Amino acid sequence: MITPGTTARQPTSAPPHWQKLLQAGYRDAGELLSTLDLDPQAMGLSEQAQAQFPTRVPQGYVARMRYRDPEDPLLRQVLPVKAETRDHAGFVTDPVGDMASRQSTGVLKKYPGRALLITTGACAIHCRYCFRRHFPYGEENAARGRWEGALNAVAADPDIREVILSGGDPLSLSDQKLTPLIQGLGQIDHVKRLRIHTRLPVVLPERVDDDFIQLLSGFPGPVTVVLHANHGREIDDSVASAVHRLQGRGILLLNQAVLLRGVNDDVHSQQSLSEALSAIGVAPYYLHQLDPVAGAAHFQVSDREALSIMAALRRQAPGYMVPRLVREVPGEASKTPIESAGPLETDD
Ligand SMILES: *Cc1c(COP(=O)(O)O)cnc(C)c1O
Ligand code: SF4
Repeated sequence: MITPGTTARQPTSAPPHWQKLLQAGYRDAGELLSTLDLDPQAMGLSEQAQAQFPTRVPQGYVARMRYRDPEDPLLRQVLPVKAETRDHAGFVTDPVGDMASRQSTGVLKKYPGRALLITTGACAIHCRYCFRRHFPYGEENAARGRWEGALNAVAADPDIREVILSGGDPLSLSDQKLTPLIQGLGQIDHVKRLRIHTRLPVVLPERVDDDFIQLLSGFPGPVTVVLHANHGREIDDSVASAVHRLQGRGILLLNQAVLLRGVNDDVHSQQSLSEALSAIGVAPYYLHQLDPVAGAAHFQVSDREALSIMAALRRQAPGYMVPRLVREVPGEASKTPIESAGPLETDD
C-alpha cells in the first residue's frame, strides 16, 4: 500500500531462478576454502577425494558457514578430505544393496506398501558421507527413459500405496521433467500418498517456488516432504520461508538426519537441530546411522555413543522432538531401529 510520505515501491528485478543458482554453486573445494579464509593444507583438503566425488555446494549454503572456522559443521559435510582416501574394513561401495535390488525402471520396492523411485542421480550439493557416492548415477534413474517404465511398474503393483521420490535429489529435476511424473502417479488409483525426500529446501530453498508448489498441489492425495537437514545452523530464514510455502498448501514436513562424527554427534547439536526444526513446524522423523560407504568411515559414530546421545536427548526434549534412531540393513523389511536392549552393550 502506498501512503503519503512513503515512496512507491520500485519494481525490483526478479530474483534469480533456482536453476541459475544451482549452476552457480561452488565446484572447487580450494575456492570454497579461500572464501572462508581457511588453509587447504591444515584442513586436509584432498584433490584425490574430490576427483572421486566432485565438490558441489550452493552459494547460499556456503553463506551459512562460519568464516575461519575449521570445525564448521556445514563445511565438514561437503569438504573432500584425505581421510576419505583411506580404506576401512566393512566400508564398501554399495552398503545398502541398492545395486542388487535395482531395476531398469528406477523403482525400488524393498518395503511393503511403498516404492522408492530413483528419479535422478543429480544433487544440488555433494555430501561427503553419501551412500550414493559410488552409484553409477547416469544409468540408474527413471528420467533417462522418461517415466513410462516407472509409471507402468507402479501401475502394475496394487500393493504400492505410497510412492517415494528419491535420487539423487528429485528436486534437482526441472518442473518440466517432474510434472508428467507427478501427474502420472496421481492418475494411478492405488497410489494414495506421495512422499518426496529432498535436501533442496535446505541447501537451495529458492527451489520451492510458486510453480513447484502449484505442481504438488495437483496431486490428489496427501503429500509429505521429508527434508534432509543435519544441523540446526543449516536452517535459516530462507529455509523457513520455503517450508512455510509448502505448509501453506497442507504439505506435511518431516526431517531425516544422518548422525555424523564432527557434525552433530552430541546431544547439544541434536537438541538444537530438533529445536530449529520445531520452530518451523517440521517434525524430526529419523536419525540414521551412517551407511558404511567407502570414503565415509571418519564420520562414523558407534551405536553405543548414538544410544547415549538419544538417551540424553530424550531426557531434555519433548517426545515429538526425538527422532527414531535407525539403520538400513540390506534384506530387512523396514529400517532397523537401534535400541538398547537393557543395559548398554559394551562392544566397543
Ligand atoms: C527408506 C526406504 C523407504 C521408506 O521407509 P520408511 O520407513 O517408510 O520411511 C522405502 N523404500 C526404500 C527402498 C527405502 O530405502
Ligand atoms: S543424495 Fe542426499 S546425501 Fe547424497 S549427495 Fe545428494 S543430497 Fe547429499
